[in-house]
Amino acid sequence: MHIPEGGLSAADPRRRVPRTDVVLADPLLADAVDRLGAGEVKQAVVRVQQLVRDGRLAPERVVDSVLERLPDSASSMQPVLNATGVVLHTNLGRASLSAAAVDAVVAAAGYVDVEYDLSDGRRARRGRGALAALAGAVPGAGDVLVVNNGAAALVLATTALAAGREVLVSRGELVEIGDGFRLPELIESTGARIREVGTTNRTKLADYAEAIGPDTGCVLKVHPSNFRIEGFTSSVSIAELATLGVPVVADVGSGLLNADPLLPDEPDVASAVDGGASLVTCSGDKLFGGPQAGLIFGAADAVNGLRRHPLARALRVDKLTLAAVEATLRGPSTPTERYLHADPARLRSRCAALAAEVGGEVVPSAGAVGGGGAPGLELPGWAVALPAAYARRLRAGKPPVIGRVEHGRCLLDLRCVEESADRTLAEAVRRVSPTVVSL
Ligand SMILES: *Cc1c(COP(=O)(O)O)cnc(C)c1O
Repeated sequence: MHIPEGGLSAADPRRRVPRTDVVLADPLLADAVDRLGAGEVKQAVVRVQQLVRDGRLAPERVVDSVLERLPDSASSMQPVLNATGVVLHTNLGRASLSAAAVDAVVAAAGYVDVEYDLSDGRRARRGRGALAALAGAVPGAGDVLVVNNGAAALVLATTALAAGREVLVSRGELVEIGDGFRLPELIESTGARIREVGTTNRTKLADYAEAIGPDTGCVLKVHPSNFRIEGFTSSVSIAELATLGVPVVADVGSGLLNADPLLPDEPDVASAVDGGASLVTCSGDKLFGGPQAGLIFGAADAVNGLRRHPLARALRVDKLTLAAVEATLRGPSTPTERYLHADPARLRSRCAALAAEVGGEVVPSAGAVGGGGAPGLELPGWAVALPAAYARRLRAGKPPVIGRVEHGRCLLDLRCVEESADRTLAEAVRRVSPTVVSL
């Protein structure tokens, strides 16, 4: 139907508004009602009815128009294609969960035996499957605990070992972890006092030894994950710190459970445990490649002390996190692992195929670990370079595509895009190309 500019006249029969209950009962909307609830769909219907009343929409277009207006899901959070080349992009939710972890989260969404023993009908250790999987991955650890995030792990460890007492930290490890969160402030918020030892670039075992006294709660070793000090430097290994006779807490940051040759400067949990740390903490959604969580490994008595601490209840994780942690470990390799180790030749040929379809130039592109990990490490890869104006248009698309603007161009780096999504990405780019006339 043709609607004249300025809308239809009040008398025009085309302004007849379909009834709400009739529209809601349309079989084409049944899926959306199931997914989003009748309330949300009804709101869209009411808005669309107003368009008809105003003479801006033909009555027979009502159902289509409602469908166009409805979100894809009941959450306003939109899945995006990460074409930045940054594997653990903090603003895009850090690690992308493996398919196994996603399935596990969905399965755990209803009632589950998270804290229940099906064999005897009694209460069981909460999340024991996740704990067993973590313990299996780090055999040197006597016990494991999962809390809300890396910061929570550190807060719990320092509270339990040093509230009202001193935490010894090297001056080279007093770091800010991003978004203005400073580790020393976090620790002092628990009631522990930071005692700085050594200097910014050099700290020796004797510096720690001299600072130890009756008030020492623990020694904290923090991986300064987001910056690097080069030149005249020295720091003390966990094995040396473990000789001091006080508990050593090691915050390794990114959650690499075992050493990875691609990331030689990234400390791993197993080495820290084997080095003699009482407690080793890390994040779940960085290099571990799982959900947001804080993982704590260590000696059985030390971990048990944390488990029994009243604060542990406030930092407890939900069943979805526990399900995802376990499946991240037991399932095949995580997206994080695959993206980090993506084959540059394969990335280049995928970029060539994309450029052949949408234009642009295939250029070398340095990917990054992100999430504050492995600063300075460049992951060799490729991207399709388009004019910078694409960046904004791609962000506004469906699905939104997030590129990296560099030197006045919008780079689409395919490292963190699943190959199965290449088609979707190409179509998203074509839709915003100025040469494509939308039909
Ligand atoms: C990321 C990081 C943290 C904080 O972990 P979250 O999971 O973000 O709370 C703490 N310490 C170090 C060294 C880190 O790299």
